[in-house]
Formats: sequence, structure tokens, C-alpha cells
Amino acid sequence: MSLLVQKYGGTSVGTVERIGAVADKVAGFREQGHDMVVVVSAMSGETNRLIALANDIQERPDPREMDVLVSTGEQVTIALLCMALKKRGWDARSYTGGQVRILTDDSHTKARIQEIDEANMRADLDAGRVVVVAGFQGVDAKGNITTLGRGGSDTTGVALAAALKADECQIYTDVDGVYTTDPRVVDRARRLEKITFEEMLEMASLGSKVLQIRAVEFAGKYNVPLRVLSSFKEGPGTLITLDEEENTMEQPVVSGIAFNRDEAKITLAGIPDTPGIASKILAPVGEANVEVDVIVQNVGADNTTDLTFTVNRGDMNKTVELLSAVAKEIGAREVSGDDAIAKVSIVGVGMRSHAGVASTMFKALAEEGINIQMITTSEIKISVIISEKYLELAVRTLHSAFGLDAEVTA
Ligand code: ADP
Ligand code: ASP
Ligand code: MG
Repeated sequence: MSLLVQKYGGTSVGTVERIGAVADKVAGFREQGHDMVVVVSAMSGETNRLIALANDIQERPDPREMDVLVSTGEQVTIALLCMALKKRGWDARSYTGGQVRILTDDSHTKARIQEIDEANMRADLDAGRVVVVAGFQGVDAKGNITTLGRGGSDTTGVALAAALKADECQIYTDVDGVYTTDPRVVDRARRLEKITFEEMLEMASLGSKVLQIRAVEFAGKYNVPLRVLSSFKEGPGTLITLDEEENTMEQPVVSGIAFNRDEAKITLAGIPDTPGIASKILAPVGEANVEVDVIVQNVGADNTTDLTFTVNRGDMNKTVELLSAVAKEIGAREVSGDDAIAKVSIVGVGMRSHAGVASTMFKALAEEGINIQMITTSEIKISVIISEKYLELAVRTLHSAFGLDAEVTA
């Protein structure tokens, strides 16, 4: 008998029938004697629908009110799942984030969990009840509802598993594990039996939305055994491993390929090449709460330089606007934005011990006529910025070039 925390994502609870199927699954685990804490997302499409309603009223609604609005999606599913469990003869009780008391900071729409009160959940588990918790939400010290950022139910699941010292945190979704790349884009993507925590962290931060990055961070920090599985079909899923020994053995050079369309490129051209210029440009960007990702600076011939960097696509217009004033001040020639770009990254702990990975990557892209606009590397990843129209071709090409393609079965 063990304590399991299971999280079911939007598609897994997308209809009343699907909620019934989740209840059957949870009941099956209870029958085997496991203590169960279940975290659910809003029904698929619901969070987007709520955000669209808000945007029909205002382009940038008040973040506090946004959280009051979008947290309602999860409140629907916790109640429906409890009803479905009770109908099957299992006692269950639902909790919003505030009712558990998942205490967060007060950064609305991207709050961080600070503390979790286990008392209510423990009492229910001891009484034999299934505990059903709304994902994605918490409450700040003043009692305001907060949310944890898109995909945040994953983080709720892992955080509860950490607080309760669960035997495993199981993330149930619409794919049967973590794949070498998004299986919706590459049909020869392969499910990984396991992936190292470090690689999963890179994959998540580079755009693979199968797990929210904060969920992976949490799992690493608190040593939570984490597994991604399908709620639609049986199978072992993918285990995120923390065991260093195991991780260094027989690693392929590249384990996975991530990509992100949500980027835009900003270029300041003809900047006087003097010390302090980069900070004069990037400081106001940071102050405006715009995250900067890849940065490249080229030196021109005539004592001027060009600075290019990427930001989230939604921040492009605001950044160009902001930098137009800065450009005048520092005497730069022009500022431009380009949102038809994408980032493709190869990830693998095996890169540490292999040379020539970058050249294999660049050669494979060149052979397809794909131009690389920017490059950035770290110990276990290489990312390139390319034109968005080549994104799928690039991902497929690299998937083959690094030997990740699944065997085709006739
Ligand atoms: P949920 O609603 O269950 O949280 P998400 O849509 O957030 O599900 O995440 C699951 C999706 O992540 C899959 O449908 C898949 O398209 C996408 N995905 C992206 N990269 C990967 C990957 N490397 N492995 C598996 N799925 C991936
Ligand atoms: N419902 C939220 C979202 O769509 C949280 C989640 O599904 O994890 O982002
Ligand atoms: Mg998700």
C-alpha cells in the first residue's frame, strides 16, 4: 500500500464521460489499497475560454481578477470528479487551493508555492477518503486567489506529492509518456522509458509543454519520484530519474528535441560601439518585466554594432516601442522586430562527453537549406533560432540526424 498523487490534465477530464473514466481509474487504485490524492485541471479548452472572455472586455485585465476568473475552471472538475467517485461507492472530498491552504506569494497569474498545509488532506486520507484538489491555484497570505501559470496543475501535483512525501507523483495526460520530441509534430518520435531530471528540466524550459518547468524544478528540489503516463491507455509511461549513477550509463548523445514558437526577435542596428551599451538597452527591457532569452551581438565595420535578442512573442510590440526611445537616446540607427521565428533545441546529458554534436546539428540543418539566425549553447543543450516556416522540417531533420527515429513497423 502506498500514497499516490495523481494529476489528470485537461483532455483527461475533458467531458463528463472522461471524468467518469478517471473516477474508474482512481477507484481501481483505491481497491488495491492505495491512498489517493488526485489533482485535476480544468476541462480542456476551459482556461482558454475564460481568458478569451476577459480579453473581450480588456486587453490587459487586472491580474487579481484574472486569477479569480481562471481558477473557476478547476473548481468545476474537482466537484464533478468527487460526484463520480461517490457514485461508484468511494468517499471523496474536493478542495480548492485555498481550502487545502496552498499558500503562495502574491504574484498573480504566476504565483509560487511557499507552503502547503497537509492537515485537511491527512485527516481525509486517514478516514479512507479520496482527496481531490484543484490544480493551478493557491491563496496568498491575505486570502487572495492566485494561479501558478499556464500548465500549473503539474506543479500542484508535484508540490502536494512533496508535502505528503508520496511514493510517486503520476502525471496523467493525453500521451503515454515523454517522447524524444512532440509526437504531434514528428510521427516517428519515440517514448522514453526514462529521462534524467536535468534533461527534463531543459526540455520543459525549451518549450516541451508535457510538464510545466516549475513542476520539474520542484521534483528535483524535493526528490519526488515523477512519472508521466497516459490516462487513455495502460503502460509504464516515462520515469523522470534523479539517480546520478544510472544517469551516466549508456546515455545517447541527444535524448530529445524541444521547440518553441512563442519567441520573437528584436534587433537594434547601427549602435555606437562603446562600453555600457548592452546594459543601456537591456536594463529598461528587464525593468518592463520582459524576459530576454538568446542574445547575440555583432561588431560592424564602422565602429557600430548590432544587438539582437529574443523575447516572448507577446512582448515584442511593447519591447520595440520601448526601445525606440532608447535607440534615439544612444544614437542607434533602427529598431525592428520579427515574430516569424522559432527556437529548436537538442538536449542530452551525453553531450558532455561527446565532441562534434554542434557540427552534426548545423550540417543537418544546412543540408535542408535551413538558415541559422542565432545560436546558444549550454553544457547539455544547443539551441538555434530559425525561420518559423522551417520549424517542423528542422525538428524532423534533427530527430533523424541524431538517430532518434522509431523503427517503422509494417
Ligand atoms: P495536459 O492537459 O494533460 O496537461 P498538455 O497539453 O499540457 O497536457 O501536455 C501534453 C502534450 O504535450 C502532448 O499532447 C504533446 O503534444 C505535448 N508534448 C510536447 N513535447 C512533448 C514530448 N517531448 N513528449 C510528449 N509530449 C510532448
Ligand atoms: N487549466 C490550467 C491551464 O490550462 C492549468 C493546467 O491545465 O495545468 O493552463
Ligand atoms: Mg499541461
